[in-house]
Amino acid sequence: MKSKPAYLWILALWLICLSCATTQVQDIKPGEKPALESDEAGLWMAMDDIEANLKTSGRIEHDPDLNAYVKKILCKLQPDYCNDIRYVIVQTPHFNASMAPNGFMQVWTGLMLRAQNEAQLAYVLGHEMGHYQRRHSLKQWRTIRNTSSALIFLQIVAAGAGVGFAGDIAYLVAMAGIFAYSRDMEREADDFGFEFMADAGYDFHEAANIWQALIEERDAADQPDQFILFASHPTSSERVNTLRKMADHLESQGRYGESYQREYLDATGPFRAKWLKNELRKRDFAASQVVLKHLFNTGDRPGELHYYQGELYRMRAQEGDVEKAIASYQKALSHEKYPPAALRSLGLLFWKARKFEDAKDSFNNYLVVNPDAPDYEMIKSYLEELQQNDQKQRDYPAGNRFFTERLCALHTGRAGQKRHGRRLQY
Ligand SMILES: [Zn+2]
Repeated sequence: MKSKPAYLWILALWLICLSCATTQVQDIKPGEKPALESDEAGLWMAMDDIEANLKTSGRIEHDPDLNAYVKKILCKLQPDYCNDIRYVIVQTPHFNASMAPNGFMQVWTGLMLRAQNEAQLAYVLGHEMGHYQRRHSLKQWRTIRNTSSALIFLQIVAAGAGVGFAGDIAYLVAMAGIFAYSRDMEREADDFGFEFMADAGYDFHEAANIWQALIEERDAADQPDQFILFASHPTSSERVNTLRKMADHLESQGRYGESYQREYLDATGPFRAKWLKNELRKRDFAASQVVLKHLFNTGDRPGELHYYQGELYRMRAQEGDVEKAIASYQKALSHEKYPPAALRSLGLLFWKARKFEDAKDSFNNYLVVNPDAPDYEMIKSYLEELQQNDQKQRDYPAGNRFFTERLCALHTGRAGQKRHGRRLQY
């Protein structure tokens, strides 16, 4: 995409808009666009470029049903602003949502994985809409325009409006950081999000619940600095307590709302496996364990959750994790629905534990339940190797160098895998 010099607009307006900082900023009205020769118009133009760039990045989730579901929530929260807000669902395992000054919102799949019901997602979206309506990014720009942060901001904008950079995670983090709002702005956005969700009929207790869950996850995390949301949204127990008090107050007035958990789990269910896989790739297993615990609490698709619990143990590979992983995969299989990959992982771990008959049973079952698996031939070759091993054990019971090497290739690292010229897909 050709880069436009929109950031130059801001630069120019930075110099000429001397009265901006003292001008009272009103809430944006539905359908309102900034005056042409304003610093706000410059901000919008710069963000339009970033938006166009991000929309073409490979990180965007385009599924029409999921996108329609997010749109439905946005319009339910604020029908008058429904057409002013555009959004993309960004495939990244971190918890975040952000709002650009031109009404362009990012919803990250890490947030969607963690929200336990529609009310929780609605609260976060409402919070971001609060930033938009109150024009917080314009106010923020006017606060930083005379500081060194303004130069960093312009560099980030220039990079984002350039080629293919806007989808990069480091860029997204930098973007979130530059629009780190003041605590007062965050409180305002909290109030807006809370009011929007309550008026739309959502269970307003869920506002505090999603922050509380995130704090629990951060406190458990091996890498707490990876919590991108906290770069732009300071989260504290004080904030949770304030939201709880607001909810109790509404409840005392006889108000109530729905969490719409079933609707949420149905809408996000088809994507959850992919999101969990990306979550585990972060390799912060302590944090992911908290995420899994909260998902288990929903009671939804337990077979899938036990499989990913097994994956967590297998990837973590601490002492005793092989046994824990085997137990988790077996729990997954005890449910009516489970990912067929549980059988494959189980086969590999049984093989590692030298339980050859169990390994063969698992691989055989995997091929039966998953006849179209892309790794069908590979698993078949494992079975053949196990059968050959049976034969060799019978012929040469005292030793089996071939089999020992094969196990090394499976489980002791890249060198072993490379030697056998085959990369394991589990
Ligand atoms: Zn915020």
